[in-house]
Amino acid sequence: MSIESGLSTATKDFLVRSHGHFINGQWVASDSGETFAVHNPANGEVIAHCAAGGEAEIDRAVKAARAAFEGPWSRFTSAQRSRVLWKIADLIEQNFQQLCELEILDNGLPTPLAQYVCGMVVPEFFRYYAGWPTKIEGATIPASPQGKLPGQVFSYTLREPIGVVGAITPWNSPLPMVMLKIAPTLATGCTLVLKPAELTPLTAMRLAELCAEAGVPDGVINIVNGFGDTAGAALAAHPSVDKIAFTGSTEVGRKIIHAAAGNLKKVTLELGGKSPVVIFDDAKLEEAIPGAARACFFLQGQNCMAGTRLFVHEYVHDQVVEGIAAAARAMKIGPGLDPSSEFGPLISAEQRNRVASYVEAGLIEGAELACGGKALSSPGYFYEPTILTQTQPDMTPVCNEIFGPVLCVQRFGDDDLDDVVKAANSTIYGLSGSVWTRDLGTAMQMVRRIDSGQVSVNMHAAIDPAMPFGGNKQSGWGREFGKEGLEPYLKTKGISITW
Ligand code: ADP
Repeated sequence: MSIESGLSTATKDFLVRSHGHFINGQWVASDSGETFAVHNPANGEVIAHCAAGGEAEIDRAVKAARAAFEGPWSRFTSAQRSRVLWKIADLIEQNFQQLCELEILDNGLPTPLAQYVCGMVVPEFFRYYAGWPTKIEGATIPASPQGKLPGQVFSYTLREPIGVVGAITPWNSPLPMVMLKIAPTLATGCTLVLKPAELTPLTAMRLAELCAEAGVPDGVINIVNGFGDTAGAALAAHPSVDKIAFTGSTEVGRKIIHAAAGNLKKVTLELGGKSPVVIFDDAKLEEAIPGAARACFFLQGQNCMAGTRLFVHEYVHDQVVEGIAAAARAMKIGPGLDPSSEFGPLISAEQRNRVASYVEAGLIEGAELACGGKALSSPGYFYEPTILTQTQPDMTPVCNEIFGPVLCVQRFGDDDLDDVVKAANSTIYGLSGSVWTRDLGTAMQMVRRIDSGQVSVNMHAAIDPAMPFGGNKQSGWGREFGKEGLEPYLKTKGISITW
């Protein structure tokens, strides 16, 4: 009996539906009738078919979003928007099993991680943002425009929703990526047209239905399925979209900027990373070793925050490498639906080939293999967690974001703090990073000097709904999460009144 036969009825029923676009509260097909297949990365089988949208569907969705923004949604009070966000969190919990199964089938992540995401991360994020609508405030300003004296003029600011938001999300963490766009949209009173990754559209579609069930009016949240260079490009270029929120590769981020230039829409980008993990010789190794293994191999390394460049003090280098290699070898590789699996497949055969080619390039350039380095022969797109040692800053797998389970190790010596900082920062990216030490002075110096949007000490990728997250350098523009995550969805109006 296959693992898939144990899926819940709700999931089975969802998969066999014909999946269109969610526009103005209705599921609709593409004008062209075109569809694409969605695959389970754990075995390569087709699990669903989706309508492939283009310019026509994007235009229809943007018009629906504009009408909702100017119509019913604008009459919702902030307290009503809070209640809707809270209700969405409740519905996510009530549909926990189905969302977990769809996310695993679509993306391949292991069951315990899917349970954490669907049972904790996503509902708690919606609850965090449920607190904000009633607290979005402007200011009174002690201004004297045109020489007015105090008492002759009243100046203040209004914080207004930016309007129609276009969101484009990647496949590596489908539901959390969609959550990051929907929650601030609803909290600020914006409306949304979302194009989920074509490789993983399932949970985005289900979440749109749950939003409707929670009382979000028609047209506020719209989903258009399709490919990046058609549906995605049309959304980024649409003249009636006020802002684009994009998460994906740096390469596509650049295309979004060009496409958005037509009407100068505002753009936030959460892009690639090549984050450093720095382990000093005084670190508590029983925590640093599993911590570094998780930092790189979490989500099979298909994670923009992944700690893929490891810098280890020479005194502990061998012990750390052996420890992480032992942890990697002990990971149970298998389909995410098998609850005992700890390490799932990569998203596609193409991604697996890409990872393999980076490892090969590193070995040709002189790196050594401490573990891994092979694709599995079983069905699905599995690739072993891999460690390359003796790497140099200019080697191909060190300079490029691989988006796979490949850790590149470099060593440093005793008096090299400046050199370690320089090496850690010698990347075009600046998203995350971690420092492992018991010395507070070392930690404080390192966190100030690592050029990343997020740095953690004795932990990696410390994500929380309240903590701003985003990239420096070519890792992006703007921040998501926390109060700062609302800013790109708001605009400020300065108002002065005299009488
Ligand atoms: P990843 O490397 O994570 O697949 P991509 O940057 O390729 O990330 O894709 C992220 C999202 O961007 C996906 O939804 C994809 O369809 C979309 N996309 C790809 N190319 C374009 C484009 N030219 N314009 C707009 N969106 C695009």
